[in-house]
Order: sequence, then C-alpha cells, then structure tokens
Amino acid sequence: MDGSSRWMSCHAITTRDPTGKPLRMAGSQADITEEKTLDVLTGLPNRLLLISQLEIAAGEFACRVAQGGSPSPTHAVLFLDLNDFKTINDTFGHIAGDRLLCLIGARLKATGLQWAEQQTSLVASVIARMGGDEFAVLLEGAATSTAVLAFAQKLQENIEEPFDLDGLSVHCAFSIGATLASEFHRTPEDMLREADIAMYTGKVENRGRIVLFDPAMRDVASQQFELQNDIRTAVAKGEFTLVFQPQVELTTGRMYGVESLIRWIHPTRGLLQPDVFIPIAEKTGVIVEIGAWMLREACLQIRSWNLEFFRDPPLELSVNLSPREFKQKNLVSGIVRTLSETDFAPRLLHFELTEGALFEDIASARLTLNALKEIGVGLDLDDFGTGYSSLKYLRELPFDTLKIDKYFIASLDPQQASSGELVRAIINMADVLGLEVIAEGIESNAHRTTLRALGCRFGQGYYFGKPLNADALHHMLMCEGSDEGGPPLPVPAELPKHFQEQV
Ligand code: C2E
Ligand code: MG
Ligand code: MG
Repeated sequence: MDGSSRWMSCHAITTRDPTGKPLRMAGSQADITEEKTLDVLTGLPNRLLLISQLEIAAGEFACRVAQGGSPSPTHAVLFLDLNDFKTINDTFGHIAGDRLLCLIGARLKATGLQWAEQQTSLVASVIARMGGDEFAVLLEGAATSTAVLAFAQKLQENIEEPFDLDGLSVHCAFSIGATLASEFHRTPEDMLREADIAMYTGKVENRGRIVLFDPAMRDVASQQFELQNDIRTAVAKGEFTLVFQPQVELTTGRMYGVESLIRWIHPTRGLLQPDVFIPIAEKTGVIVEIGAWMLREACLQIRSWNLEFFRDPPLELSVNLSPREFKQKNLVSGIVRTLSETDFAPRLLHFELTEGALFEDIASARLTLNALKEIGVGLDLDDFGTGYSSLKYLRELPFDTLKIDKYFIASLDPQQASSGELVRAIINMADVLGLEVIAEGIESNAHRTTLRALGCRFGQGYYFGKPLNADALHHMLMCEGSDEGGPPLPVPAELPKHFQEQV
C-alpha cells in the first residue's frame, strides 16, 4: 500500500434470519482502479486520472504560493484535438479509426519518454485520452511558456510523421492549446477549459496551430458559448427575421428576384448578422431547423407579393443552403413538402451553395444536386472565385448560375482598364460552360456600367438595394415602374432602426 486512493466495486446482499430480520451483509469487493483510470482503447490514462493528478499538482502549487513561495508555474496542461479525424473515420471506417487512435496514443507516450531523456526540468507526467479524438497532457516542473511550447512542438512534429494504417500512409495533425498554472485556477476543470479554449481559438483561426491561452480568449469563448445556448430556442421564440435584397437586370435595372437573408434579433444583444451566428448554427446543427423555417417564410412572403402585384414574370427567390443543411438526409423531401404547402412554384426558387458544401463528398453532392434539379429549382454557385473552383466539377455538376463574389466587383476600377480582366475571364468561362452569371456586391454606377460592358446580365448590391425588411421591400415593389433602373429607393424612415441595414 502506497497510501494512494483506489476505486473499489462492492456487491453485497443482506442475510436475514427466518423472521426476515437483517443479520449481516455478505458480498465481495474488487479493485477496479485500472478500469476506472485507463482508457480502454489506447491504454493511456483517462480523463479521470488526469484530473486527479492535476488536482494534486494544483494543491501543491497553491500551498507553495500560500507559504510565500514563488508563483512561477509548476505545471501546465496541453489540450490536443486531432484535425479531420471525422474524415478518416468516414473514409476508412470506425475500426481503422480506432486503430489509428491507438497508434497515436502510443506515439504520444513515446514522445513523452523521449522528451524525458533530454529534458528533466519539465516532464509529461500524464498523457491521457479525453475521449473521441481528444488527448491532454499534464506537464510538471519548470513550466515556462518556452518549455511548454517546445514540448507541444515536439508532439506535433512526431504526430505529423505518417502512420501506417494497414499499408496506407495516413497523415495527421493536432490543434493544440496550452495553459500554464496560475493562482487564479480554482479547479482542475478551469485549467482544462482554458487549454480547450486556446485549442479551439487556434482551430478557428488556422488549423494545426499551437496556441497559448490568453485571458482575452475567454470573453470570445464565453460569448460563443452563450450564443450557442441561445440559438437552440431562437426559432421557437420567433427571434429570427428575414431581409430581402433585390436582384436586378443590369441593363434595365428591373428587379427580377430577391435573395432572402436571415437576421437574428437577439433579446439582449440586438441585431446580429449571419456571419456571427451561421457558423454557430452550423456547428450545433440548429441550421437545419433555421433553414426549414426560413424557406417556408420566404416562400410565403414572395408568393403573397406575386399575388398582390400580379407580377409578370413573377418575382424569383434565392435561398442560401449552408453545408450542413445541404448534407441532411431529408433535404429534398423537406423542400418538396415546403413548396407544396406554401404553393410556391419550384421554377421561381434558386438555391445558393458555396463550394465548401460540395467537395467533401462529391459523389453524394452530385446525387443531391440532381435530385434538386429534378424538382425544378435553380442552382447557383455562391461566392464564386473564393473557393476551390474546380473546372472539372463545374462542368459535371448541374449548376445554372455562377455568382461572382463581391471581392472581384470591389476590385473593379474604372480608371484601370485591366481591372476587369478577371471578371471578363469568369464571364467567358461561364459562357463556355453554359452558365448564367450574376455579380454580387455592386456598390456604384461605375460597377454597374463596367459589368454591363463585360457582358454580365444580372447583379445585386447596395447600389440597387440593401437587404430590406419585408415592409421596405413591399414599398419598393409598390413604387416599381416609377423608377427606370435608377439608384435604390431610400429605406422608409419610419422603420425601426435595427431593420435599416448599414453599409
Ligand atoms: P451571401 O449569400 O454571399 O450573401 C451576400 C452578402 O453580401 C449578404 O451579407 C449581403 O448583405 C452582402 N451584400 C450585398 N450587397 C452588398 C454590397 O453591395 N456590398 C457589400 N459589401 N456587401 C453586400 P449577409 O446578409 O451578412 O450574409 C452573409 C452570408 O451569410 C451570406 O452570404 C450567406 O452565406 C449567409 N446567410 C445569410 N442568410 C442565410 C440563411 O438564411 N441561410 C444560410 N444558410 N446562410 C445565410
Ligand atoms: Mg448567397
Ligand atoms: Mg455570396
């Protein structure tokens, strides 16, 4: 016995006398410390063991500081998350994925030992598997940021050496977050959370990085956390609203359709733009519910305008589909149902997709796109020119329209004849592929004139109209015919301020 705590499993039954009175307990006890503290798959320590070791290290550190000793950190935590493990699982299957995790565990352990041979002032005392593709390391000793980052670097280098998975060479990399002990950590979870936040920050900014925790990251992370929580109930609470941005024929300035864009009126933060919450909705999967809600609302709205104004040809509707929405199993049947329930003509509906949604699994993307074409909706490739833009796929996939990203339009300079060459090249290429082109981000008459001269027929941008709420767009439709392609109508002044989009 070394005085350490053990995990025991106890089973017992009560022995009774003939009258039913309890006499004593009879049973057995087993030491299950290993099962409780070791990860079954990799044999590495598990989360529980890491936390109990971290608790001991933190206790010793706190004692030292309380006795007036140096507050320089005596330990640090690394949080490691494998990049793209899901792809490996999806490609090679779960059994191969598990085997890879074992190989990774072994290599992490070997790195710890290798490091201990060269460095004795800072040792990796626990290397644990936290679950899934996440690992963590407790470093003890002189935990300076330089030494901790050097160890993380060593881990990363070793993990980047290819793994042999049944004869296949597989490349891996971690995103790593690190944090050093401080007097402000109250529980082991505090430190783990900080390392996790640092890891996540690195992952969002630039995958595969090693990031040391900085308190400023906490605010960003807690905001994200709060929004992540709030977004789950936002559809039910009716906090989303739609705005509509005109899409026009460049020659006449006539509005032929609108792109519907979503806004979140958050109860405490006010108006939130999609850049802030769509990634969170994607991550949590709530985007599926939001997307279904928004499609229904937009179809109902456009149909009612078409009926009210006897528009001929009727107003068209463009709706964005984010990668997670695009990948859901019941996408096509859900759309068919919404179209029939809202009595909306499929030929008036376009879906805008970015390349990110397509290339992860091109074969199933093709099936879904073809199924969408079959119901008769249009398919537009959004933000064209900013992604992979593979010509091979452009040719093979059933898109109707390329939507040139606003980046290219912003770089159009009427003083510089050559600035339009890239846009011209995109338009020519679309022509060869039999695709229509729409330019987004048209902010001036000069943009419009240049694009027209380059042969672009359709456009969208602040020059023609910002995304407007339903009342403002209704007003614009009422005034139609009185303006012949002139500059946009002003947003009515009586609208609540948060509905007026800012440039
Ligand atoms: P997007 O589909 O490329 O939408 C165009 C974005 O450009 C919109 O930003 C729009 O307000 C902005 N924009 C339009 N004209 C101009 C202009 O002349 N100049 C400049 N600088 N910007 C202009 P928004 O509304 O913030 O949307 C951002 C992105 O969020 C959209 O990019 C789309 O990918 C996504 N999104 C918006 N609503 C939805 C939605 O309901 N569902 C999904 N899945 N994604 C959405
Ligand atoms: Mg779009
Ligand atoms: Mg776009």
